Order: sequence, then C-alpha cells, then structure tokens
Amino acid sequence: MLKGGCFCGQIRYEADGTPCNETSCHCAICRRTTGAAFVTWFSMRRAQFRIVSGEPKRFKSTANATRSFCAVCGTQLTFETEDYPDEIDVTTCSLDDPESVPPKDHTYTRSRLGWIKLSDQLPQHQKARTP
Ligand SMILES: [Zn+2]
Ligand SMILES: [Zn+2]
Repeated sequence: MLKGGCFCGQIRYEADGTPCNETSCHCAICRRTTGAAFVTWFSMRRAQFRIVSGEPKRFKSTANATRSFCAVCGTQLTFETEDYPDEIDVTTCSLDDPESVPPKDHTYTRSRLGWIKLSDQLPQHQKARTP
C-alpha cells in the first residue's frame, strides 16, 4: 500500500494497487500551481485511492481538470481529469517514500525551462505520452 500526505500532516492518503504513468511533467500549469520547475506524478485507479484524514481544497486548473492541495500548508496532492474518469494522479513527492515510485519519463518537455538540463536518459515527450 502507498501512503502519503501533505507537508503539515493534516491530509493523509492511502492507495492500493500498482502505480502507473510515472512521469515528471514540465507543463506550465504544474509549474505555476506548485512554484516548482516540474512536478513528478504517478497514476492510480480512483477507486483504490482514498483520503484518510483531512479534506483537501480543490480547484479547476483547466475546464476539465481538478487539482487538490492542502489549504494549510499548500502541498499539491492530486490531479483528476474528466478525460480519464477512472484515474487519479498523485504527486510522487507527497508520498512518504518517493524513492519507491520513480518517474519513467518526462512529459510536456516542449514547456521545459531552459535551465533544466535533463541527464537521466529517460524518454522525453514533447506533450503527453504517446501510447
Ligand atoms: Zn498540509
Ligand atoms: Zn503538468
């Protein structure tokens, strides 16, 4: 079972099952909503993800996508899009053990900041991963 939560500890989550779509996303929305140069995510089945304490604040980051974060400390936690109603994306670095779910590629590198130099040899996708 994967466990994680926000920086201040008010919000805790758990997830069963196997993560997928592990990626570091360089899109401008991830960047601007976190204040970080890029954000690493993994996906789970929505039915296997649960908040076990606290109540994340939610906001629409695009017309069909909702993100959640801790309203006390600001940690961004999840991303859900109507395009994939069975999936929820979770920020890898909100896990208690981010080392256990490393990214497998980079996405939206067309938006990558020029001073981020990628040398990890992972595949890079200009936009979303192409299936
Ligand atoms: Zn918090
Ligand atoms: Zn993104």
